[in-house]
Amino acid sequence: MRKMKAVILKAPNDFAPGEIDIPAVGDGDILLEMKKAAICGTDIRILEGKKTKGVRYPSVIGHEICGLVKEVGRDVKGFAPGDKVAVANVIPCHSCRACLAGRENACMDRKAIGYEFNGGFEEYVLIPRLALESGNVVKLPDHVSFEEGALIEPLSCCIRGLRNAGTGFNDNVLIVGAGPIGLMHLQLAKIAGARRVIVSEPIASRREKAKKLGADIAVDPTEEDLEAIVMAETDGAGMDVIVMAIGVPALVDPTLKLCRKGGTVNLFAGFAGTGACTVEVNTIHYNEITVNGSTAYRRQDYYDAAEMVKSGKIDLKEIVTHTFKIEEFQKAYEVCKSGAGLKVLIEP
Ligand SMILES: [Zn+2]
Ligand SMILES: [Zn+2]
Repeated sequence: MRKMKAVILKAPNDFAPGEIDIPAVGDGDILLEMKKAAICGTDIRILEGKKTKGVRYPSVIGHEICGLVKEVGRDVKGFAPGDKVAVANVIPCHSCRACLAGRENACMDRKAIGYEFNGGFEEYVLIPRLALESGNVVKLPDHVSFEEGALIEPLSCCIRGLRNAGTGFNDNVLIVGAGPIGLMHLQLAKIAGARRVIVSEPIASRREKAKKLGADIAVDPTEEDLEAIVMAETDGAGMDVIVMAIGVPALVDPTLKLCRKGGTVNLFAGFAGTGACTVEVNTIHYNEITVNGSTAYRRQDYYDAAEMVKSGKIDLKEIVTHTFKIEEFQKAYEVCKSGAGLKVLIEP
């Protein structure tokens, strides 16, 4: 059996680059030559054992993947070796109550690459029949880079969040957190027609990036009075839409107070621990605020994200700051933990 490089997760906090067998390709599968796989905040939580649902040990994680088709099973139609593809990693079951209700992103029996199937932090990724039959593999034209291809996945999550938040024409929007996800939400809000987008972010380099990508105001919440700025900018009304792109439970209550009557707060980020925190629920009650969540994406969101990338409607290149080899995974992990960069990519 031929071997390949992979980041092997043996247990929480026990992961390292090593060698494993290149997977055998079944009749309905594709073998993908990974070119770029991005590290997601969720991956960091998995590596540290803070998220364990669906995670196997040992396994290879990584769910933001782009590469070239290397080998095609006998039954596979529509793909050939050499095709540049990106992969929607979440495969819905199509038959649970969530799927039947049109919420396949919240499928109760989902299978996912990077969880139930080995993910992107390896040289060759097996794309199983299930994923192909579900339409989870998208071909990309030459002008889309592997970096952009890998970031279609988080962008599709943000598109789901935008749809849940209901951001629209002329809205005042607050994005809490200007990490990679916040910076995608910022751009999507502008594209959806927001009048003004305020970004709240303590790290200076991230605020600068937010300004570069179209933020009207970038606030340092540790030095400036975010509430005073929001109220001054909205004549005391508050924001129409707020997206929480940072999973800090203690920020939920003060953020709710920045929302206008009848506005929406989308809890986009996965929150630390169970997310337990204290909320003055009368803020929601008297102001008739809608608070909702957002998990993963529907395949339609993924296709829409791919179309946006293909047509150049969104800037994902600005969000990539580091690229490391599989062997350098520890360094990549440390950069992610430090918050020094934005998106960190792994390449073979
Ligand atoms: Zn992710
Ligand atoms: Zn389902």
